[in-house]
Amino acid sequence: MSNQPTINELLERNKELAKTYTPKPTIAEIKSEGHPLPKVLVVTCGDPRCVPEQFLGATAGEIAVFRNVCGHVAAEIPFILYMDLILHFDEVMVVHHTDCGAFQFDDATVRKVLKVRAPEHAAKVDEYTEFGVITDLDQSIKEDIAALKSSPLMRKELVSEIRGFAFDIKTGLLREVEA
Ligand SMILES: [Zn+2]
Repeated sequence: MSNQPTINELLERNKELAKTYTPKPTIAEIKSEGHPLPKVLVVTCGDPRCVPEQFLGATAGEIAVFRNVCGHVAAEIPFILYMDLILHFDEVMVVHHTDCGAFQFDDATVRKVLKVRAPEHAAKVDEYTEFGVITDLDQSIKEDIAALKSSPLMRKELVSEIRGFAFDIKTGLLREVEA
């Protein structure tokens, strides 16, 4: 039996935490009071073993973080473009990690499962070309850096400051992967 919390249990925690909550500044307050904005955007996996604030020793607000399956950038590009308009990032870190769940299945297996689930929508399943699956950690990082760098809508100054890293969940260390 799992002891992991349900939504309702989490809502109870939220009520308790709100009692000692410190109000956050609005964007208008951030601008007028001169609060520092994050200069580094980290795109990484949503895996609970891969939490950038932990492995980078950064507090919330020091870095901007996008997390999804594996830490792929392609689906995030519109959001990166938007957030960069607001925050004007200086650098981007693309971080994938060892033992990622994205190694577990291949695209064909995912498609097969979905087609069994909804055979009447098999054609729709084929429209999804990728599910974030990876087979080679370094290659995955290199492909994502290339995807971001080749986006014609990215700011040129930012494109030259995109770096890729592999996070080792056993040592806690980041290893740079050259594009
Ligand atoms: Zn992962």
